[in-house]
Amino acid sequence: MAFIPYGRQSISDDDIQAVVDVLQSDFITQGPAVHKFEDSIKSYCSVKHAIATNSATSALHIACLALEIGIGDIVWTSPITFVASANCALYCGADVDFVDIDLQTYNLSCDALEEKLITAQKINKLPKAIIVVHFAGQSCNMQCIKELSEKYNFKVIEDASHAIGGRYLEEPIGNCKYSDITIFSFHPVKIITTAEGGIATTQNSNLAEKMELLRSHGITRNPELMTQKPDGGWYYQQITLGFNYRMTDLQAALGASQMQHLDKFVSKRHELKKRYDEELQELPLILPSQSDLAYSALHLYPILLETEKTSKSHQQIFNELRHSNIGVNLHYIPVYKQPYYQKMGFDASNFPNAEYYYNRAISIPLYYELSIEEQDTVVDALQKALT
Ligand SMILES: *Cc1c(COP(=O)(O)O)cnc(C)c1O
Repeated sequence: MAFIPYGRQSISDDDIQAVVDVLQSDFITQGPAVHKFEDSIKSYCSVKHAIATNSATSALHIACLALEIGIGDIVWTSPITFVASANCALYCGADVDFVDIDLQTYNLSCDALEEKLITAQKINKLPKAIIVVHFAGQSCNMQCIKELSEKYNFKVIEDASHAIGGRYLEEPIGNCKYSDITIFSFHPVKIITTAEGGIATTQNSNLAEKMELLRSHGITRNPELMTQKPDGGWYYQQITLGFNYRMTDLQAALGASQMQHLDKFVSKRHELKKRYDEELQELPLILPSQSDLAYSALHLYPILLETEKTSKSHQQIFNELRHSNIGVNLHYIPVYKQPYYQKMGFDASNFPNAEYYYNRAISIPLYYELSIEEQDTVVDALQKALT
């Protein structure tokens, strides 16, 4: 039986042609295709600015810098995320802490956030920014987070790496209605791909200008941004310390072509999810629940084992599935458990829901090209492992 991964890209002939066209054109690094891709994201997400980067990690880094997160600042995020959501704050010299998740959506809990803010205010340790993660593609409770951000005066970054194509209260994730900046990832396991790549969206032209500078060495050719008169036509100025985080035109052409397929990709994920929901309902599992406020992009289908009802351990079941060639995974190991973060002295008992989740979760295959036969193979393997 062939290996079934938990996620993978879907590349069509028009995607391939779009990349070949760029290879035969004058620009292959950041050029017109990047602008075209940024335009397609802006129009899809109803947002004024989009800055494409070579990864979502880079986009998170320049988002933090644009919000002037630095040494001595505090940034909070969800523990159930990829390490990049927290690392970006460390890159800037900030201190990171985590807010426990809720057990319905596995997103950062707004109730836990409020409780933590009340305590932090008393000891004068309020965060400068919160990075919320739309886990598995389902939006966080953004209205609640926005209210708290106004009350406690912190910035909000949406790590929407899982969530392009998703909606919150009928509006596209990425429109930054409840946040300063939103980030998407285009890694091949995500909803659409540019191989490696990411993007930052914002409604704020000042933040957009800063991120554009930071993406390319802090260099500008715009005389209006320069601190002195240009020496001549060759002149450019470095006005801040930036990086080479640019996306190539090859990647952007792939991204723009993938955008044409985005809605189809997401609705197929919903069909597959519905089928899993039906086929797995009798098993001792907690299936992912969907909030009425959100339309998920469904990056992941995480199941939680009702370990009280099974004789086998989490690890045993995971291993059995892997031995049946099912590419199950665990999204995610709580970030505070990573050795690098352990050195900062986090105590797992502060995050009971993240611990509960981690002790039971398994992500099973979900992607556009997953066939019914493959899905049946996954269901059979789960049935065998659990009964
Ligand atoms: C994938 C992912 C990232 C990093 O994306 P890259 O494009 O690989 O840098 C960041 N945050 C989350 C939640 C992710 O899933």
